[in-house]
Amino acid sequence: MNNQQNNDNNQENKEKKKPSKFGLLNSISIGLLILLIVSGIYSAIASENKNTIKINLSELVSDVGAGNVTSITVKGDTLTATYNDEKKTIKETNKESDSSVTETFSRYGLTPEKLNAVKINVEGPSGFLFWFVQITPFLAPLLFIILIIWFLSRQVKGAGMQAFSFGQSKARITLPDDKKQKVTFKDVAGAKEAKQELAEIVDFLKNPKKFLEIGAVIPKGILLMGAPGTGKTLLARAVAGEANVAFFAISGSEFVEMFVGVGASRVRDLFKMAKEAAPAIIFVDEIDAVGRVRGTGVGGGNDEREQTLNQILVEMDGFEPNEKVIVMAATNRPDVLDPALLRPGRFDRRVTIDLPDRNDREEILKIHSTKKPFAEDVGLRVIAERTPGFSGADLYSLMNEGAILAARENRTKISQYDLIRAIEKVMLGPERKSHLLSKKEKEITAYHEAGHALVSSLLPFADPVHKISIISRGRAAGYTLHLPLEDRKMQSKKEFLDDIAVSLGGYVVEKIMFNDVTTGPSNDLQVSTALARDMVTKYGMSEKIGVLALENSGGRAMFGKGIEDKEYSEKIGADIDSEVARIMREAYDKAEDAINKNRPALDAIAKRLIEIENLERDEYESIIIAHGIQPKKKLDIEHQI
Ligand code: ADP
Ligand code: MG
Ligand code: ZN
Repeated sequence: MNNQQNNDNNQENKEKKKPSKFGLLNSISIGLLILLIVSGIYSAIASENKNTIKINLSELVSDVGAGNVTSITVKGDTLTATYNDEKKTIKETNKESDSSVTETFSRYGLTPEKLNAVKINVEGPSGFLFWFVQITPFLAPLLFIILIIWFLSRQVKGAGMQAFSFGQSKARITLPDDKKQKVTFKDVAGAKEAKQELAEIVDFLKNPKKFLEIGAVIPKGILLMGAPGTGKTLLARAVAGEANVAFFAISGSEFVEMFVGVGASRVRDLFKMAKEAAPAIIFVDEIDAVGRVRGTGVGGGNDEREQTLNQILVEMDGFEPNEKVIVMAATNRPDVLDPALLRPGRFDRRVTIDLPDRNDREEILKIHSTKKPFAEDVGLRVIAERTPGFSGADLYSLMNEGAILAARENRTKISQYDLIRAIEKVMLGPERKSHLLSKKEKEITAYHEAGHALVSSLLPFADPVHKISIISRGRAAGYTLHLPLEDRKMQSKKEFLDDIAVSLGGYVVEKIMFNDVTTGPSNDLQVSTALARDMVTKYGMSEKIGVLALENSGGRAMFGKGIEDKEYSEKIGADIDSEVARIMREAYDKAEDAINKNRPALDAIAKRLIEIENLERDEYESIIIAHGIQPKKKLDIEHQI
């Protein structure tokens, strides 16, 4: 018995160590364990004294007949006989349950006299033990089943609770005295205009009286717009941190859940909580998930989404200006938002956050470089220069990748080289050194990339080359990194035309060198054709079509091309196609011409690339200078508007 229990204890300990996540599996194993313990105890009690010898009833009858038995104890159906030998042997047997002891013995032909010689004690069913032994065989499985049902129902209840308590708005709350999560404007680099706009809101949340007394109406809703990773979420947190108010954050997608009506009641709950905690900020991240234009019917209307959106509008209309609750929302698709959201009194204050420019990038890098040990050679300015188009989030992960690279090579300090490699990793995905190119593939790739680079260096409005590589990354077999000298908000027609020619450079070279084309340039062709099309249809850069913006930006990606409304006639459609084809043809000719005139330079670049696989700007420029091509200097290009 002792042994048995020890074993069980061990097992129990093991069970406890298991993470309780296993849910059902765990409950079943607990159930099994309990069953095991119960049946262990049962069997221990049932076979109380193990040194009794089990015999048949007929054996006992014959022993009684022979006069070997002194007494028999009857306990239920169990007969325990004590023998009159030296050792007072005890033997045990069972009788039939529906007849008494005397009946049984007489049925076996035992005379009453013989039976009288034996002392028969009838022991009444002995309280607990008897019942335990009797009942356990029936009870144990029942108990087991009840247990499983209980565990199951507990889980179902858990899920049910989520549905019926409408998840008490899943908002994550940051209270003002939460020092750890506190973010202030200091943690947000750049975004000067946005910070200025938001400073006003901070001021209101700090001293609402000042504004209310003078009769100023404070905006209820502020919409933060900007590309992904530009720091919208961060900025919203910073506003709460600066103003020292409670911050309720929820993502638009969290409103939309299984049951219709859940989203709306979550909104109600969220606003209620915020009002109780006022002054407070409610932040709805990715509001486009619920705030898309209603009733477009694409893919069937989504009642749930509409109800949630309606509820947000109702709540925003419902609160008084002195409620000191400000709703902030963020989106990277302001173009798809329902106009009702943007009406006065709702999200009428809109703050745009742009991608950071060079100075801002440097600032962001600085913010994310605290706590990171740098080698002396690190110059964040150079990194900032090399990362046009990077968002704050990209820069953050650049810094992180740099640190990982250094750690992987067991260095304790991050060097400039780590950061430069991190740029490429963030931009293009990790190098795939395992993807080995065959000798022929390597040659083609080298010439292809050399083609891009050379055309880029030869055309006056193209961007300077920073690096060429034939190590495959992501899906590209090789790549040429040419970056603009400055961040540009505007691009001219001449720049576009040269960009298209540069894109075609790889294709042109493959044609010239190998008189064949691989699948390699297909992406180049897609990108350049799309650019040519945009020039014609969006920017009015085609003389034949004239100044017409035939396609508005956005909207298209949302519905896919299939059901896009054309806003122009078939004739103009044909004209567009012919214009695009003309632009592409001219760009092709321009690239071909440039390459043909500089074949020795092309060969030299490609040869060197095959040798060393990565060509940095300095070495690349020394090669083209040797062939009489002047590399681009800064301010070589005047931006033309
Ligand atoms: P968004 O919400 O616009 O997609 P996030 O606010 O989530 O972007 O930004 C992601 C991360 O990028 C932030 O947590 C922060 O580390 C970094 N980041 C983005 N913008 C900035 C910035 N201006 N200054 C400092 N860090 C930034
Ligand atoms: Mg965000
Ligand atoms: Zn290419």
